[in-house]
Amino acid sequence: MIVGVLGAGQLARMLALAGRPLGLDFAFLSPDPDSCAAALGRHICADFDDEAALARLAADAAVVTYEFENAPLAGARRLGERVTLLPPAPALAAAQDRLEEKRLFRALGVETPTFVPVDDPARLADAAGRTGYPAVLKTRRMGYDGKGQAIVRDEADLEPAWTRLGGAPSILEAFVPYEREVSIVAVRARDGRTAFYPLCENTHRDGILRLSVARPDDPMEAAAQAGARRLLEALDYVGVLALEFFQVGGRLLANEFAPRVHNSGHWTIEGAECSQFENHLRAIMGWPLGATDPIGWAAMVNFIGTLPAAAEVLALPHVHFHDYGKAPRPGRKLGHATVRADSAEDVARIVPELLRLASS
Ligand code: AMP
Repeated sequence: MIVGVLGAGQLARMLALAGRPLGLDFAFLSPDPDSCAAALGRHICADFDDEAALARLAADAAVVTYEFENAPLAGARRLGERVTLLPPAPALAAAQDRLEEKRLFRALGVETPTFVPVDDPARLADAAGRTGYPAVLKTRRMGYDGKGQAIVRDEADLEPAWTRLGGAPSILEAFVPYEREVSIVAVRARDGRTAFYPLCENTHRDGILRLSVARPDDPMEAAAQAGARRLLEALDYVGVLALEFFQVGGRLLANEFAPRVHNSGHWTIEGAECSQFENHLRAIMGWPLGATDPIGWAAMVNFIGTLPAAAEVLALPHVHFHDYGKAPRPGRKLGHATVRADSAEDVARIVPELLRLASS
Protein backbone atom coordinates (compact mmCIF):
# COMPACT_ATOMS: atom_id res chain seq x y z
CA MET A 1 0.00 0.00 0.00
CA ILE A 2 1.17 3.50 -0.80
CA VAL A 3 1.09 6.49 1.52
CA GLY A 4 1.14 9.82 -0.31
CA VAL A 5 2.93 12.69 1.40
CA LEU A 6 2.72 16.40 0.63
CA GLY A 7 6.32 17.44 1.14
CA ALA A 8 9.54 15.47 0.93
CA GLY A 9 11.79 16.85 3.65
CA GLN A 10 13.19 15.15 6.72
CA LEU A 11 9.79 14.51 8.32
CA ALA A 12 8.61 12.71 5.18
CA ARG A 13 11.91 10.82 5.12
CA MET A 14 11.53 9.66 8.73
CA LEU A 15 7.92 8.67 8.06
CA ALA A 16 9.14 6.47 5.21
CA LEU A 17 11.95 5.02 7.32
CA ALA A 18 9.29 3.99 9.87
CA GLY A 19 6.77 2.80 7.30
CA ARG A 20 8.90 0.62 5.05
CA PRO A 21 9.25 -2.17 7.65
CA LEU A 22 5.45 -2.17 7.95
CA GLY A 23 5.15 -2.93 4.23
CA LEU A 24 4.21 0.60 3.22
CA ASP A 25 5.51 2.35 0.13
CA PHE A 26 5.65 6.10 -0.29
CA ALA A 27 5.01 8.77 -2.91
CA PHE A 28 6.13 12.32 -2.16
CA LEU A 29 5.06 15.54 -3.82
CA SER A 30 7.47 18.48 -3.61
CA PRO A 31 8.91 21.03 -6.03
CA ASP A 32 12.53 20.57 -4.92
CA PRO A 33 14.43 18.03 -7.06
CA ASP A 34 16.92 17.52 -4.20
CA SER A 35 14.26 16.60 -1.63
CA CYS A 36 15.79 14.41 1.04
CA ALA A 37 12.90 11.92 1.18
CA ALA A 38 13.08 11.22 -2.56
CA ALA A 39 15.41 8.23 -2.18
CA LEU A 40 12.80 6.44 -0.06
CA GLY A 41 9.90 6.40 -2.48
CA ARG A 42 8.48 7.85 -5.68
CA HIS A 43 9.14 11.55 -5.97
CA ILE A 44 6.61 13.59 -7.91
CA CYS A 45 8.61 16.75 -8.50
CA ALA A 46 6.04 19.53 -8.97
CA ASP A 47 4.43 22.48 -7.24
CA PHE A 48 1.92 21.76 -4.50
CA ASP A 49 -0.89 23.29 -6.55
CA ASP A 50 -0.07 21.37 -9.75
CA GLU A 51 -3.37 19.66 -10.60
CA ALA A 52 -1.86 16.81 -12.60
CA ALA A 53 0.72 16.11 -9.90
CA LEU A 54 -1.94 16.09 -7.16
CA ALA A 55 -3.99 13.66 -9.24
CA ARG A 56 -0.94 11.38 -9.61
CA LEU A 57 -0.31 11.50 -5.87
CA ALA A 58 -3.94 10.62 -5.17
CA ALA A 59 -4.21 7.94 -7.85
CA ASP A 60 -2.05 5.30 -6.21
CA ALA A 61 -2.28 6.28 -2.57
CA ALA A 62 -4.33 4.50 0.10
CA VAL A 63 -4.14 7.68 2.16
CA VAL A 64 -2.44 11.06 1.83
CA THR A 65 -0.80 12.98 4.66
CA TYR A 66 1.45 16.03 4.89
CA GLU A 67 4.70 16.92 6.60
CA PHE A 68 4.28 20.67 6.91
CA GLU A 69 1.35 22.88 7.79
CA ASN A 70 1.89 25.43 5.06
CA ALA A 71 0.82 22.98 2.36
CA PRO A 72 -1.62 24.96 0.17
CA LEU A 73 -5.07 24.42 1.58
CA ALA A 74 -6.87 24.46 -1.77
CA GLY A 75 -4.64 21.67 -3.12
CA ALA A 76 -5.04 19.67 0.09
CA ARG A 77 -8.83 20.04 -0.08
CA ARG A 78 -8.88 18.90 -3.73
CA LEU A 79 -6.78 15.91 -2.73
CA GLY A 80 -9.28 15.19 0.03
CA GLU A 81 -12.03 14.87 -2.59
CA ARG A 82 -10.13 12.07 -4.33
CA VAL A 83 -8.48 10.18 -1.49
CA THR A 84 -8.54 10.06 2.32
CA LEU A 85 -6.52 13.02 3.60
CA LEU A 86 -5.33 12.77 7.21
CA PRO A 87 -4.99 14.71 9.45
CA PRO A 88 -8.24 16.29 8.22
CA ALA A 89 -8.17 19.58 6.29
CA PRO A 90 -9.73 21.68 9.12
CA ALA A 91 -6.64 20.93 11.23
CA LEU A 92 -4.44 22.20 8.43
CA ALA A 93 -6.62 25.32 8.04
CA ALA A 94 -6.46 26.14 11.77
CA ALA A 95 -2.70 25.64 11.99
CA GLN A 96 -2.04 27.88 8.98
CA ASP A 97 -3.47 30.99 10.56
CA ARG A 98 -2.12 32.13 13.92
CA LEU A 99 -5.30 34.11 14.62
CA GLU A 100 -7.69 31.22 13.91
CA GLU A 101 -5.38 28.88 15.84
CA LYS A 102 -5.38 31.07 18.94
CA ARG A 103 -9.13 31.67 18.71
CA LEU A 104 -9.61 27.91 18.57
CA PHE A 105 -7.45 27.44 21.68
CA ARG A 106 -9.52 30.05 23.52
CA ALA A 107 -12.81 28.54 22.36
CA LEU A 108 -11.65 25.21 23.78
CA GLY A 109 -10.68 26.76 27.11
CA VAL A 110 -6.95 26.37 26.41
CA GLU A 111 -5.15 29.45 27.78
CA THR A 112 -2.98 31.53 25.43
CA PRO A 113 -0.86 34.67 25.74
CA THR A 114 -2.89 37.88 25.27
CA PHE A 115 -3.20 38.54 21.53
CA VAL A 116 -4.86 41.17 19.35
CA PRO A 117 -5.48 40.88 15.59
CA VAL A 118 -3.93 43.73 13.58
CA ASP A 119 -4.76 44.32 9.91
CA ASP A 120 -3.95 47.99 9.81
CA PRO A 121 -0.80 49.74 11.11
CA ALA A 122 -2.97 52.51 12.53
CA ARG A 123 -4.31 49.95 15.05
CA LEU A 124 -0.86 48.88 16.31
CA ALA A 125 -0.61 51.34 19.21
CA ASP A 126 -4.12 50.36 20.41
CA ALA A 127 -3.18 46.70 20.24
CA ALA A 128 -0.02 47.36 22.23
CA GLY A 129 -2.17 49.08 24.84
CA ARG A 130 -3.78 45.68 25.42
CA THR A 131 -0.68 43.48 25.26
CA GLY A 132 1.77 45.84 26.95
CA TYR A 133 5.50 45.90 26.08
CA PRO A 134 7.46 43.96 25.12
CA ALA A 135 5.21 42.27 22.58
CA VAL A 136 5.71 40.05 19.55
CA LEU A 137 4.25 40.94 16.17
CA LYS A 138 3.53 37.77 14.17
CA THR A 139 2.16 37.42 10.68
CA ARG A 140 -1.01 35.35 10.64
CA ARG A 141 0.32 33.12 7.87
CA MET A 142 3.56 31.40 6.82
CA GLY A 143 5.22 31.65 10.21
CA TYR A 144 7.46 28.82 11.41
CA ASP A 145 10.81 28.45 13.18
CA GLY A 146 10.59 32.07 14.34
CA LYS A 147 9.98 33.37 10.80
CA GLY A 148 7.36 36.06 10.27
CA GLN A 149 7.75 37.58 13.72
CA ALA A 150 9.40 40.58 15.32
CA ILE A 151 9.86 41.69 18.92
CA VAL A 152 8.46 45.11 19.74
CA ARG A 153 10.05 46.77 22.78
CA ASP A 154 8.28 50.12 22.73
CA GLU A 155 6.08 52.29 20.56
CA ALA A 156 8.99 53.31 18.32
CA ASP A 157 9.41 49.65 17.28
CA LEU A 158 5.83 49.22 16.08
CA GLU A 159 5.96 50.70 12.56
CA PRO A 160 9.42 49.30 11.67
CA ALA A 161 8.29 45.81 12.78
CA TRP A 162 5.12 46.10 10.69
CA THR A 163 7.17 47.14 7.64
CA ARG A 164 9.78 44.44 8.19
CA LEU A 165 7.04 41.79 8.18
CA GLY A 166 5.72 43.12 4.88
CA GLY A 167 2.55 44.77 6.20
CA ALA A 168 0.75 41.42 6.27
CA PRO A 169 -2.31 40.73 8.45
CA SER A 170 -0.84 39.89 11.86
CA ILE A 171 -1.43 39.44 15.53
CA LEU A 172 0.29 41.36 18.27
CA GLU A 173 0.97 39.07 21.19
CA ALA A 174 2.19 39.77 24.72
CA PHE A 175 5.79 38.67 25.18
CA VAL A 176 5.69 35.86 27.74
CA PRO A 177 8.48 35.79 30.34
CA TYR A 178 8.26 32.02 30.42
CA GLU A 179 10.25 29.69 32.68
CA ARG A 180 10.36 27.04 30.00
CA GLU A 181 8.85 25.93 26.72
CA VAL A 182 7.21 22.52 26.62
CA SER A 183 5.37 20.45 24.05
CA ILE A 184 3.13 17.45 24.10
CA VAL A 185 3.10 15.04 21.18
CA ALA A 186 -0.17 13.14 20.90
CA VAL A 187 -1.63 10.61 18.49
CA ARG A 188 -5.28 9.89 17.78
CA ALA A 189 -6.49 6.83 15.88
CA ARG A 190 -9.40 6.66 13.45
CA ASP A 191 -11.55 5.10 16.19
CA GLY A 192 -10.81 8.05 18.53
CA ARG A 193 -8.34 6.25 20.74
CA THR A 194 -5.69 8.70 21.91
CA ALA A 195 -2.20 8.32 23.35
CA PHE A 196 0.44 10.79 24.53
CA TYR A 197 4.20 10.76 24.64
CA PRO A 198 5.85 12.23 27.75
CA LEU A 199 6.00 16.01 27.94
CA CYS A 200 9.09 17.51 26.33
CA GLU A 201 11.08 20.50 27.50
CA ASN A 202 12.33 22.52 24.53
CA THR A 203 15.09 25.08 24.06
CA HIS A 204 15.13 27.28 20.97
CA ARG A 205 17.93 29.34 19.49
CA ASP A 206 17.12 32.09 16.98
CA GLY A 207 13.55 30.78 16.94
CA ILE A 208 14.65 27.25 15.90
CA LEU A 209 14.41 24.23 18.17
CA ARG A 210 17.85 23.23 19.42
CA LEU A 211 17.26 20.81 22.30
CA SER A 212 14.32 18.64 23.44
CA VAL A 213 14.42 16.70 26.66
CA ALA A 214 11.71 14.13 27.41
CA ARG A 215 10.37 14.57 30.93
CA PRO A 216 8.35 11.50 31.88
CA ASP A 217 6.03 12.24 34.83
CA ASP A 218 6.49 16.01 34.55
CA PRO A 219 4.07 17.86 36.88
CA MET A 220 2.64 19.79 33.90
CA GLU A 221 1.95 16.66 31.85
CA ALA A 222 -1.73 16.28 32.82
CA ALA A 223 -2.52 19.92 31.95
CA ALA A 224 -0.76 19.62 28.59
CA GLN A 225 -2.57 16.38 27.79
CA ALA A 226 -5.93 17.92 28.68
CA GLY A 227 -5.36 20.80 26.23
CA ALA A 228 -4.19 18.47 23.47
CA ARG A 229 -7.13 16.13 23.99
CA ARG A 230 -9.62 18.98 23.54
CA LEU A 231 -7.91 20.00 20.32
CA LEU A 232 -7.81 16.43 18.96
CA GLU A 233 -11.49 15.92 19.69
CA ALA A 234 -12.62 19.29 18.36
CA LEU A 235 -10.83 18.66 15.06
CA ASP A 236 -11.88 14.97 14.90
CA TYR A 237 -8.18 14.51 14.38
CA VAL A 238 -6.38 11.45 13.07
CA GLY A 239 -2.58 11.19 13.24
CA VAL A 240 0.16 12.78 15.33
CA LEU A 241 -0.23 16.34 16.61
CA ALA A 242 2.14 18.48 18.68
CA LEU A 243 0.98 21.28 20.95
CA GLU A 244 3.55 23.81 22.19
CA PHE A 245 3.22 25.86 25.36
CA PHE A 246 4.99 28.48 27.42
CA GLN A 247 5.07 27.67 31.12
CA VAL A 248 4.65 30.59 33.52
CA GLY A 249 4.44 29.53 37.16
CA GLY A 250 1.99 26.66 37.25
CA ARG A 251 0.21 27.78 34.05
CA LEU A 252 0.59 26.61 30.49
CA LEU A 253 -0.11 29.13 27.71
CA ALA A 254 -0.58 27.55 24.28
CA ASN A 255 1.66 29.02 21.59
CA GLU A 256 0.90 26.88 18.55
CA PHE A 257 0.14 23.39 17.34
CA ALA A 258 1.56 21.39 14.47
CA PRO A 259 -0.84 19.01 12.65
CA ARG A 260 1.94 16.55 11.91
CA VAL A 261 4.90 14.72 13.35
CA HIS A 262 7.07 17.19 15.22
CA ASN A 263 10.72 17.94 15.86
CA SER A 264 10.20 17.64 19.63
CA GLY A 265 9.13 14.02 19.03
CA HIS A 266 12.21 12.83 17.14
CA TRP A 267 13.62 11.27 20.32
CA THR A 268 10.75 8.74 20.20
CA ILE A 269 12.51 6.85 17.37
CA GLU A 270 14.87 5.30 19.90
CA GLY A 271 13.35 6.54 23.16
CA ALA A 272 9.78 5.24 23.00
CA GLU A 273 8.24 1.86 22.41
CA CYS A 274 6.64 3.01 19.15
CA SER A 275 7.93 6.19 17.50
CA GLN A 276 5.80 9.20 16.56
CA PHE A 277 6.47 8.35 12.90
CA GLU A 278 5.22 4.78 13.16
CA ASN A 279 2.25 5.90 15.24
CA HIS A 280 1.30 8.57 12.71
CA LEU A 281 1.26 5.90 10.01
CA ARG A 282 -0.65 3.44 12.19
CA ALA A 283 -3.26 6.13 12.90
CA ILE A 284 -3.81 7.26 9.31
CA MET A 285 -3.85 3.66 8.05
CA GLY A 286 -6.57 2.78 10.57
CA TRP A 287 -4.27 0.36 12.36
CA PRO A 288 -3.99 -0.05 16.16
CA LEU A 289 -1.73 2.49 17.84
CA GLY A 290 1.59 1.43 19.33
CA ALA A 291 2.61 2.11 22.93
CA THR A 292 3.93 5.60 23.58
CA ASP A 293 5.80 4.58 26.75
CA PRO A 294 9.34 5.91 27.02
CA ILE A 295 12.23 3.45 27.19
CA GLY A 296 14.33 5.02 29.91
CA TRP A 297 15.34 8.65 29.39
CA ALA A 298 16.03 10.59 26.22
CA ALA A 299 16.96 13.94 24.75
CA MET A 300 17.51 15.21 21.21
CA VAL A 301 19.82 17.85 19.78
CA ASN A 302 19.25 19.38 16.34
CA PHE A 303 22.11 20.02 13.94
CA ILE A 304 21.36 23.32 12.25
CA GLY A 305 23.41 24.83 9.42
CA THR A 306 26.32 22.44 9.83
CA LEU A 307 26.51 18.73 10.51
CA PRO A 308 29.26 17.24 12.69
CA ALA A 309 31.11 14.18 11.41
CA ALA A 310 29.20 10.96 12.06
CA ALA A 311 32.23 9.41 13.76
CA GLU A 312 32.42 12.24 16.29
CA VAL A 313 28.77 11.96 17.23
CA LEU A 314 28.82 8.18 17.35
CA ALA A 315 31.85 8.20 19.65
CA LEU A 316 29.51 9.35 22.44
CA PRO A 317 27.83 6.58 24.42
CA HIS A 318 24.06 5.96 24.05
CA VAL A 319 23.86 8.31 21.06
CA HIS A 320 22.00 7.76 17.77
CA PHE A 321 22.84 9.92 14.76
CA HIS A 322 20.44 11.00 12.01
CA ASP A 323 21.81 12.66 8.87
CA TYR A 324 18.95 13.87 6.67
CA GLY A 325 21.11 13.99 3.54
CA LYS A 326 20.48 17.70 2.96
CA ALA A 327 22.89 20.27 1.55
CA PRO A 328 24.21 22.59 4.31
CA ARG A 329 22.69 26.07 4.46
CA PRO A 330 22.54 28.53 7.37
CA GLY A 331 19.49 27.94 9.55
CA ARG A 332 18.67 24.62 7.85
CA LYS A 333 17.94 21.50 9.91
CA LEU A 334 20.45 18.97 8.60
CA GLY A 335 20.18 16.20 11.16
CA HIS A 336 19.77 15.39 14.82
CA ALA A 337 21.13 13.09 17.48
CA THR A 338 19.22 11.37 20.25
CA VAL A 339 20.75 10.22 23.49
CA ARG A 340 18.81 7.44 25.18
CA ALA A 341 20.00 5.95 28.44
CA ASP A 342 18.73 4.19 31.53
CA SER A 343 19.15 7.20 33.81
CA ALA A 344 18.34 10.91 33.54
CA GLU A 345 21.88 11.60 34.84
CA ASP A 346 23.48 9.77 31.91
CA VAL A 347 21.37 11.76 29.47
CA ALA A 348 22.18 15.05 31.22
CA ARG A 349 25.90 14.21 31.06
CA ILE A 350 25.90 13.60 27.31
CA VAL A 351 23.64 16.47 26.19
CA PRO A 352 26.35 19.18 26.66
CA GLU A 353 28.71 17.08 24.51
CA LEU A 354 26.11 16.95 21.76
CA LEU A 355 25.44 20.69 22.05
CA ARG A 356 29.17 21.31 21.74
CA LEU A 357 29.30 19.24 18.54
CA ALA A 358 26.17 21.02 17.27
CA SER A 359 27.76 24.45 17.61
CA SER A 360 31.30 23.62 16.46
P1 AMP B 1 6.81 30.41 17.01
O1 AMP B 1 7.20 30.57 15.58
O2 AMP B 1 5.53 31.07 17.40
O3 AMP B 1 6.88 28.98 17.47
O4 AMP B 1 7.94 31.15 17.86
C1 AMP B 1 9.28 30.71 17.84
C2 AMP B 1 9.91 31.00 19.19
O5 AMP B 1 9.86 32.40 19.49
C3 AMP B 1 9.16 30.34 20.35
O6 AMP B 1 9.53 29.01 20.50
C4 AMP B 1 9.62 31.22 21.50
O7 AMP B 1 10.93 30.87 21.90
C5 AMP B 1 9.64 32.59 20.88
N1 AMP B 1 8.32 33.24 21.09
C6 AMP B 1 7.25 33.22 20.26
N2 AMP B 1 6.20 33.89 20.78
C7 AMP B 1 6.60 34.34 21.99
C8 AMP B 1 5.95 35.09 23.03
N3 AMP B 1 4.68 35.53 22.92
N4 AMP B 1 6.67 35.35 24.16
C9 AMP B 1 7.95 34.94 24.29
N5 AMP B 1 8.61 34.24 23.32
C10 AMP B 1 7.96 33.94 22.19
